[in-house]
Amino acid sequence: MYKGAHLSLGRRQLLRYAGASLILSVSPLAGAAAKLPSVLAVRIWPAADYTRVTLEHDGPLKYTHFTVENPDRLVVDIEGVEFNSVLDSLARKVATDDPYIKLLRAGRFKPGVVRLVMELKTRVNPQVFEVKPVGEYGHRLVLDVYPLNPPDPLMALLEGRKDAVEPLKMDQDFRTAEKPAEDLSKRAERTEKVPEAPEVHTTKKPGKPIVDRLVTITLDPGHGGEDPGAVGKGGSYEKNVTLEVAKRLKARIDAEPNMRAVLTRDSDFFVPLQMRVQKARRVQSDLFLSIHADAWIKPDARGSSVFVLSEKGASSTQARLLAQRENEADLVGGVNLGAKDLFLARTLLDLSQTATINDSMKLGKYLLGELGTINTLHKNNVEQAGFAVLKAPDIPSALIETAFISNPEEERRLNDDAYQEKLAEAIVRGIRQYFIKHPPGPKSKLASLG
Ligand SMILES: [Zn+2]
Repeated sequence: MYKGAHLSLGRRQLLRYAGASLILSVSPLAGAAAKLPSVLAVRIWPAADYTRVTLEHDGPLKYTHFTVENPDRLVVDIEGVEFNSVLDSLARKVATDDPYIKLLRAGRFKPGVVRLVMELKTRVNPQVFEVKPVGEYGHRLVLDVYPLNPPDPLMALLEGRKDAVEPLKMDQDFRTAEKPAEDLSKRAERTEKVPEAPEVHTTKKPGKPIVDRLVTITLDPGHGGEDPGAVGKGGSYEKNVTLEVAKRLKARIDAEPNMRAVLTRDSDFFVPLQMRVQKARRVQSDLFLSIHADAWIKPDARGSSVFVLSEKGASSTQARLLAQRENEADLVGGVNLGAKDLFLARTLLDLSQTATINDSMKLGKYLLGELGTINTLHKNNVEQAGFAVLKAPDIPSALIETAFISNPEEERRLNDDAYQEKLAEAIVRGIRQYFIKHPPGPKSKLASLG
């Protein structure tokens, strides 16, 4: 899949996953055959979507798992691994507010077998799988616990909105939104107000809406959890910068009349690429924006760029390489290849994406134009390549590389609150222009299939 680009990607990976000093060799350690594999690190990523436990180890492991009821537990037996202080520390790594895990402990079960017992707060759908070494990571054994009854994303959206907007205004928004009556009544029962967003932008601006119905914009902060994305020389992670910018952008969009924004992730956890697309379709998004920060081996590479999907091949070698790198997120983040149905969107095989790509291109041009008022442009035109995250067949989608995190000056600006606000503001201006010139039609029938 990565043929042809392998060498240059390899070099970029050094940059991307550096902590360069931590890069592990992919080949097994010479002469280590007699030594039992050890668990080197444990990471836990709690989130409302699911909680992930990652055990990173230095050689292949054998493992089995099963669940037990009353109380609900997930048990994982690992063969031929050394019990060490890392495993011993497991229990202390679970946050008390973890949505799914109550307790986690490891112990010697019988000679040569370490048993992990995860006590659960609710009934879950566990996924236990291995991820091959990639970048700076060695072998990983991943324990994902998904809720058996996942929250309804549309309902979550409505509830989240209620918290962020004044009740009266909200009702007005929803009159134009073709929402079922029961949603409105449920919303009205709640009065608490918990705005997380920056203070100035939590209420709707008065004035005439640009759009004549409620539009939903899905914002996709790139990377997350196990996948840090690009790493700057100053130590910033792309996944953190993208989340911060996306949150600011959400606040600004939510402040626009008749617009609301949804995040594919609102904290630090990994979301597979296809799941990001699926999330956008489930809430019947009108637009999808994936937020990233670029990296290159030369520290002077700089500027913002905007990409949209291409079905026919990339518009440049650079765009192709970038798409390959961004599509590697699933390898780094860790996707369970044996459980594709978890992530598989409804098949929409015969749908032509051409019309959507045309709209994406228009959106991309407005975004690029506005980004050009606050930053150098890396390229003066919207580029195209096969980005997996832009493949919703019915939602205009664009990927923004806000700036180069590998450029020390741009890394500093990406971490600057005021600059993040400027970025968010420029992107909102681009979105507004797109909707002024291309008013949203009725909701697509396709959207309800997702
Ligand atoms: Zn990225």
